[in-house]
Amino acid sequence: MITFKHVSKVYEDGTKAVDDVDLEIKDGEFFVFIGPSGCGKTTTLKLINRLHEVTDGDLYIHDKRVIDHNIHELRWNIGYVLQQIALFPHMTIAENISIVPELKAWKKEDIKNRVDELLELVGLEPETYRNRKPSELSGGQQQRVGVARALAADPPIILMDEPFSALDPLSREQLQEDFLRLKEKIKKTIVFVTHDMSEALKIGDRICLMKDGKVVQVGTPEDFIKRP
Ligand code: ADP
Ligand code: ADP
Repeated sequence: MITFKHVSKVYEDGTKAVDDVDLEIKDGEFFVFIGPSGCGKTTTLKLINRLHEVTDGDLYIHDKRVIDHNIHELRWNIGYVLQQIALFPHMTIAENISIVPELKAWKKEDIKNRVDELLELVGLEPETYRNRKPSELSGGQQQRVGVARALAADPPIILMDEPFSALDPLSREQLQEDFLRLKEKIKKTIVFVTHDMSEALKIGDRICLMKDGKVVQVGTPEDFIKRP
């Protein structure tokens, strides 16, 4: 469980990006932050893996404040997928996916099996793709590799920041569909940022609407489409 208690983030230039946020994200939940550009979604996400530090309030993962977690363990235990997937261009797809397992000193054989399993999971045929370089893949395929890499060491939490928004509409829709199936299989806590309400309604278990750094509404997709 990820708990925000009166969490605020003020940047050094005085910008209040996150303003007194109170939230509970449950284990295994697909939780979506939505809202207009600049409302604080990305900042909120980055507080979870400490890419930004909380200015006020407390943020907990499993009853332990994030500032009390070892930062390396925290980063290893939280998968992170970005809009512009940054695969290492000189490494093969398999090497890119293996980064965290290598850091964790898994056995070679286990890493190899894990890579193939993950490629299957994200819909890329292992034989065909494991030895390719990122430049030999389409944007959508690279995004799939990004998801596989984030899942590699089986972290309980995955953060995703507009992971599909750089894709063309067709690949985007395909990835959303595949992701719906994937989320049932992997059963992880997924915290997802998007500015696209139809995407949020389609894939979220719960949605948090933000505006000016504040939480406006939290609810299920049904709550959001219900008319008053
Ligand atoms: P969103 O993800 O919803 O677009 P962000 O979290 O990126 O919103 O930004 C929230 C607010 O904080 C915006 O006003 C943005 O300009 C500002 N901001 C983001 N990052 C920084 C930073 N590193 N320093 C100063 N202000 C920032
Ligand atoms: P923190 O205070 O959490 O360490 P930083 O102030 O170091 O965050 O900023 C992180 C990154 O965000 C930097 O690379 C910075 O260039 C970028 N950034 C700075 N101002 C803004 C802004 N207004 N909107 C978006 N990004 C910004």
